[in-house]
Amino acid sequence: MVIETVADNPAAPYGVAIIGGGPAGLSAGLQLVRANRRIAILDSNRPRHSATLRSHGFLTRDGAPPLELRRLGREEFETYPTARFSQAMTREITPLSADEAREAGFPDGIGFRVSGTGLRGSSDVEIVARRVLIAAGLTEELPPFPMIRAYYGTALHSCVECDGFEKTDKPLALIGETSDLFARALLISRFSSDLIVFTNGADTIRPEQEAELGSIGIRVERRAIDDIVGEKADMTGVRLADGEVIPRVGGFVRPRWHASVDYFGDLEIERDDWGLVKVDERGETSIRGVYAAGDTVPPGPQQLIIAAGNGASVAAKLNMDMIRGALGVGQVDE
Ligand SMILES: Cc1cc2nc3c(=O)[nH]c(=O)nc-3n(C[C@H](O)[C@H](O)[C@H](O)COP(=O)(O)OP(=O)(O)OC[C@H]3O[C@@H](n4cnc5c(N)ncnc54)[C@H](O)[C@@H]3O)c2cc1C
Repeated sequence: MVIETVADNPAAPYGVAIIGGGPAGLSAGLQLVRANRRIAILDSNRPRHSATLRSHGFLTRDGAPPLELRRLGREEFETYPTARFSQAMTREITPLSADEAREAGFPDGIGFRVSGTGLRGSSDVEIVARRVLIAAGLTEELPPFPMIRAYYGTALHSCVECDGFEKTDKPLALIGETSDLFARALLISRFSSDLIVFTNGADTIRPEQEAELGSIGIRVERRAIDDIVGEKADMTGVRLADGEVIPRVGGFVRPRWHASVDYFGDLEIERDDWGLVKVDERGETSIRGVYAAGDTVPPGPQQLIIAAGNGASVAAKLNMDMIRGALGVGQVDE
């Protein structure tokens, strides 16, 4: 078996292959290189928040451009000699047999072969690692209005905690078709009472919820939407299928989310009803040795600092799993 290793120790395979170099993956990577682990991060550099110009709420970095945050994180990770960061799209992850894993130097007989296709001139990745951490975020499906992408990340956002403050007292829209629309409307009411909830014809707000929203001045618009309209970069309204344009300068949209784990091929990994990767209290998925953190796991999209914190917390569990696995003392004390 060919084992690709980092230059300064050609004999050592990787401790953890991390799929995704966003806040969850970079934060886990930093903790693990600081635990003297050899870590490879594969990142396709397509973060969900790349649509936005500024990210908010990350302590000490409030208002920083999202790509700047990632650059700083990557620089800190790469300071360590056992760190490897590859711009690569993960193509395939396959478990090694117990014999192959031991032959690769993995004492508990657990290991994975990880392949990735290099992007933007980077070389392909072919490595083996004792453990895998999925920190690959989510793919996002916006409602199918032709112009919605043009305003997403500037006038329209999905995370109320991240972008609500900048929308204080503005005429806002909340667009969505899922059952959490009522709760989202309540959250947005902290920022503006000039709010219209657009259900695009979906029956997701119950009459008593509509009455409660009405009591604080929030209207529910159930007619189907045709498109988002605007002048140049500025959103000016929501056009309904019957042609009426309701003036709005921005607001929130509720996308549908899905965690894509195609690289496991036929190997099944347990997901919840939303398609998010299920984990136990230690952050391990239904595949032994594969962990997950950040937006990829339930309850799904949260915030940068939460993803980073989750990455650090799962990294600690992963490190302990590898220590205990080497000694054969089980994962937790009885
Ligand atoms: C428009 C928008 C604005 C936002 N604004 C804010 C904000 O102001 N403040 C805030 O706290 N949060 C904000 N968020 C939420 C925040 O971006 C996420 O909670 C956070 O990025 C999740 O981190 P993560 O590491 O789990 O995933 P991500 O940051 O999405 O990173 C996942 C990484 O994995 C990579 N990847 C995916 N598949 C593969 C693969 N097969 N192989 C290799 N790499 C792969 C992706 O390219 C990506 O780089 C915003 C989100 C959006 C959509």
